[in-house]
Amino acid sequence: MSKKEEIEKIHHLVANCTKCILHNTRNKPVFGEGSLDAKIMFIGEAPGYNEEIQGHPFVGKAGKILDELLDSIELKRSDVFITNILLCRPPKNRSPLKKEIEMCKKYLDMQIDIIKPRIIAPMGNFAASYILEKIGFKIDKISKIHGIIYQINNSSNITKIIPLYHPAVAIYNINTKKALLKDFKLIKEALKEL
Ligand code: URA
Repeated sequence: MSKKEEIEKIHHLVANCTKCILHNTRNKPVFGEGSLDAKIMFIGEAPGYNEEIQGHPFVGKAGKILDELLDSIELKRSDVFITNILLCRPPKNRSPLKKEIEMCKKYLDMQIDIIKPRIIAPMGNFAASYILEKIGFKIDKISKIHGIIYQINNSSNITKIIPLYHPAVAIYNINTKKALLKDFKLIKEALKEL
């Protein structure tokens, strides 16, 4: 099966998923998107109002910040893959529940397995906790670990995990924006080293 077919299989599974309560309130799921051969995958929290309406991840205010950050290191959306830990919008944009992450994580794991990014950039506490705990790190707040480069040694290569602040925090907080711009420079360096 091609990567495209494998991803479409996930879309089909998610469109019919009733594993958590979000299927009762969602309008439609918002799938990850971008290059299926991306070297880097960005993982956010969950779709918001605009994402659910437009059907694409990170298209609201946080998405505008993410676009600026990508632009700061000369990357386009089509160079990367962007997804969320939850694929359905929580009502009123509340935080994801543990149970919801537990039910949705398999779709994220499947996307990682298909795309095989060499760098994973989880954005915000929820995505960073999930990705880092999966490889055995008990994480502190994102404010303490953003910009640290964690490495997973696979048999054939190394995958780097670079946790980032969630771009939504940078909408009103200039210091977070500065930290994100700095951490994106690390991403640029890590991409160059591949
Ligand atoms: N915030 C997220 O975490 N994901 C989106 O897609 C949009 C906003």
